[in-house]
Amino acid sequence: MTTKIITWMIVGLLLGSLINTFADDVAFVQDYFVHGVFHVVGTIFINLLKMLVVPLVVFSLICGVCGIGDVKKLGRVGIKAFSLFLLTTALAILLALLVSIAINPGKNFNLIPGTQMEFVAPESPPITQVFIELVPGNPVAAFAEGNMLQIIFFTILFAICLLMLGERGRTLIDSAEKMNDVMMRMVNVVMSIAPYGVFALMAKNFALQGIDLILPMIGYFGMVVLVLMCHVTGTLMALLKFLGRVNPIQFLKKMRTAQAFAFSTSSSGATIPITLSTVEKRMGVDNSTASFVVPFGATINMDGTAIMQGVATVFIANIYGIELSLTDYLTVIGMAVLASIGTAGVPGAGLIMLAMVLNQVGLPVEGIALIMGVDRLLDMMRTAVNITGDAVVAMIVARSEDNVSMEIFNDPDAGAVNL
Ligand code: ASP
Repeated sequence: MTTKIITWMIVGLLLGSLINTFADDVAFVQDYFVHGVFHVVGTIFINLLKMLVVPLVVFSLICGVCGIGDVKKLGRVGIKAFSLFLLTTALAILLALLVSIAINPGKNFNLIPGTQMEFVAPESPPITQVFIELVPGNPVAAFAEGNMLQIIFFTILFAICLLMLGERGRTLIDSAEKMNDVMMRMVNVVMSIAPYGVFALMAKNFALQGIDLILPMIGYFGMVVLVLMCHVTGTLMALLKFLGRVNPIQFLKKMRTAQAFAFSTSSSGATIPITLSTVEKRMGVDNSTASFVVPFGATINMDGTAIMQGVATVFIANIYGIELSLTDYLTVIGMAVLASIGTAGVPGAGLIMLAMVLNQVGLPVEGIALIMGVDRLLDMMRTAVNITGDAVVAMIVARSEDNVSMEIFNDPDAGAVNL
């Protein structure tokens, strides 16, 4: 299946780029294909994925918490996951800053004098608000809006109380297990149409966003891509090897499908169903760890986004000729880690977070206008890195709790969906 998805992804990318280059002025191509067929198929595909997220997370989490069966262990898994999320994000931004300081992107960038630059930063909530909003005043509203942290909070509390009921709660737990099976089956059904959805999304994105936009920004673009790759193949795989004691190559092979989904949807949130089924069915992580760590990570753990912020900060500082001090760099690290907790895993969220970071170190926020043109493409790449980080943490936590079936992990065909 992975081959099929990736093939269709590349076909979509090429077709979209061709349309962008040659058929820009041909109205019917734009009307019937880019804004017509591609848009409709692509949006239906994203909606299908989003449709699965809330019920899947709820049933899976109820099974997960009841499977752990012990509140102390639940707390331990939570603390380990949270600490690893912070650690991986901090390492990501540190790597981005070190590489950027060494290579100095934007040093010789010629900003044409008088260039109009405008970026209106959307309001970002204060960090205290993030904690207040963890607790849903109205759970129905939280479910309706798909507010992941609130849903996680409510569901965990619900599942703990269900456990407290003892035997009386058994029927409900059994029903949740059956519902979870149905949701997992729905994930497989949606995956079976994935190649076409991915194709439509890629064709649309690349038709609207020509590769030529990258050229003037190639230094910045290339550096973000370089650091993203170093983080995935270096930092994350080293953590996986030494803390998780599993084979990184096997892990990366099994991650490819989920990464392709993240790449084409640019949303860790919409990719939750695929990340969850990959981590559980393909890698053998027990539901009791995966059901909690994956949705939690999709919401608060964004290594790829932090990397973009690190590079962008140095790039913008260089363009404006502003020298950053060591304190500024430390502030950037702290802010980027906090910002990744407070921002949702949706397309484009990283730019809002970047505005927070720039503000904090006194860099001009309108500098974001410069990098906005290439951000769509970088968003796709960093989202793939974001979900890889979530899966790595799920694996490490599960290994430390002896909660992984290595037989499933080592079997190349385990959990593969055949199209
Ligand atoms: N699109 C990213 C995600 O969903 C967030 C971002 O960097 O904009 O993980």
